[in-house]
Amino acid sequence: MSPRTVRPPVAEPVTTEPALTPAAVSASPDAAAGTAATAAPVVAEPSDPEAGAPSPGTGAGAGAAGTVPSAGPAAGPAAAPPAADGPTAALPGLPQALTTRARTLAGAVRRRCADLARIESPSGDAPRLNALAEELAAGFRATGATAHREAGPAGDHLLLQWDGQDESLPHLLVVGHHDTVWPVGTLEDWPVTEQDGILTGPGVIDMKGGLAVLEGAFALLADLGQRPHRTVRLVVVSDEEVGSPDGRRLVERQLRGAAAVLGLEPPHPDGRLKTARRGSSRVRLTVTGREAHAGNDAAEGVSAVDELVDQLVAVRGLACQPGTELNAGRISGGTRANVVAGRAEAELGLRFATAEAQRRTLDNLARLAALRPGARVRTEVLSSRPAWPERAANPLLRHVRSLAAVLGQQLDGGPAGGAGDTNLPGSRGLPTLDGFGAVGAGAHARHEHIRIDQLAPRIALLAALLAVPLPRLRDRAEG
Ligand SMILES: [Zn+2]
Repeated sequence: MSPRTVRPPVAEPVTTEPALTPAAVSASPDAAAGTAATAAPVVAEPSDPEAGAPSPGTGAGAGAAGTVPSAGPAAGPAAAPPAADGPTAALPGLPQALTTRARTLAGAVRRRCADLARIESPSGDAPRLNALAEELAAGFRATGATAHREAGPAGDHLLLQWDGQDESLPHLLVVGHHDTVWPVGTLEDWPVTEQDGILTGPGVIDMKGGLAVLEGAFALLADLGQRPHRTVRLVVVSDEEVGSPDGRRLVERQLRGAAAVLGLEPPHPDGRLKTARRGSSRVRLTVTGREAHAGNDAAEGVSAVDELVDQLVAVRGLACQPGTELNAGRISGGTRANVVAGRAEAELGLRFATAEAQRRTLDNLARLAALRPGARVRTEVLSSRPAWPERAANPLLRHVRSLAAVLGQQLDGGPAGGAGDTNLPGSRGLPTLDGFGAVGAGAHARHEHIRIDQLAPRIALLAALLAVPLPRLRDRAEG
């Protein structure tokens, strides 16, 4: 018997499939568990003979954040037997086992998500990000991963690997991040809470839920005695919310030779996966003029503020084209009313529907020239993510859709407005899908939440995707 606290498997309310239909789920009896500062990983111990039977003295309260040793024996009524063909044909009985056990594991994943959200981890806070990286590494190691921490200037990144049954196959890359947009102290007035089937708190959907769901998927596979079909690598970066200025190099490195890329960002609020993302660039315009007395020597001065205003009008014209959106997010400059401003700057946020629109606009911005003698204009691209265009044929989405169908779920995909780390592989034509994280809404907003009834379907789907062979995915192989 493991020395860890063992929590008896709790029969979670079994909701009616297919997924993504709202189902009334009452809060589980152990919903209040888990107020500790550290989190317990979702652990599968397939050989634990006691896992299936509640034992005395291990009930609720026997540990703040209970470890879940195993899904235990299948709970609840068996799902309808799946079709014998389709993507899981090689593994008979798998869809039923995944669906049933994912329901049992969902409680542990929910607690794990809550525990991870209780470890605050804003971008830039290296000590907190490192503490969370350690916690995540421990959780993933418990599912069979090897973990490697890679130092970054604003917190460690993580690289994890699960060896596949067939190690000669190109790896499957999963990308995630453990930073959030929420400053330290947010928990004080917005604690992680669960009510009416909703778990809310800073970072629960973006993306502590996604990390917990993936951990649950690997715990599920381990529980069933399965290894992923091919080797899986997971990159968790510490700076995604500020454009992955350092984490990008890890993603870049792991893209080499990858068969496909999955993102753990949240799906669309209705559960659809993300099949494309707009490009995004952050640009700073810095204008230098010449200071002078605004009354006595105005003619000697060159106003940086006037120049910036004129430049912004020009930039608005440049960005006024289909597929491009401009947000002049911040401007500043000058010192006093009686001084001709010597310096001014603006930070622009740009969104692009296509790589062509992005390239053209950034080229134009780089060529900006001063409109008045004596002024200087400098353009800096602070961060940039390439547009990931929608593809007409999407064999990866087709594969996931049919896997979902075998699991009794209905699932589709659609393009997303925001950018993320999957922009990189998507822009290069690598088979890429995002939105494998927890279902919910409100990323970066105070109503951020995940739907608890959607955890089990997501765990089962990811586990299935990891377990079965991938079809041919490259466009050129389509014939
Ligand atoms: Zn995110």
